[in-house]
Amino acid sequence: MNRFWAKVEKTDTCWIWTGALNNCGYGVLRSDSVMYCAHRFSYERNVGEIPDGLEIDHLCRNRACVNPEHMEVVTHAENMRRRVPAGTCVNGHDYTLENTIQRRDGSRRCRACERAKKAEYRALKLAARFESVAACRRMVPQPRRATVRKAAAMPEAHRAD
Ligand SMILES: [Zn+2]
Ligand SMILES: [Zn+2]
Repeated sequence: MNRFWAKVEKTDTCWIWTGALNNCGYGVLRSDSVMYCAHRFSYERNVGEIPDGLEIDHLCRNRACVNPEHMEVVTHAENMRRRVPAGTCVNGHDYTLENTIQRRDGSRRCRACERAKKAEYRALKLAARFESVAACRRMVPQPRRATVRKAAAMPEAHRAD
């Protein structure tokens, strides 16, 4: 248990597991040569046994969190059901924690879509600028470089003679 606490960093809300994480982002720890999920370990030691076949749902959605107050024991079906509302945006991007912009009114926006929209807007603006520069060039006669250079080179040539 001491080894467990040595790897926990308590914040005001989440207790962050600073030890190893598995592929899914859950904390893992070894105790008596058995590998445990850190959050399950924490729940069992701080609250009580997790009944067979039941899963832990992270209410804070932070998988590295081992604060038992942020966990609820649920069935696999319930856990999946809760995950579904997360769903995807109209363009099929997953509303993962990283990809979701949560707004104060409870609605959410897809970060990938926002990024795409911004990129498109930038491209449009750039295109518009190019268009106006091109239009400008067409209207205002530009100095002909070749002529200018030849004129400047003239006295040089005379001096050489
Ligand atoms: Zn938490
Ligand atoms: Zn999207």
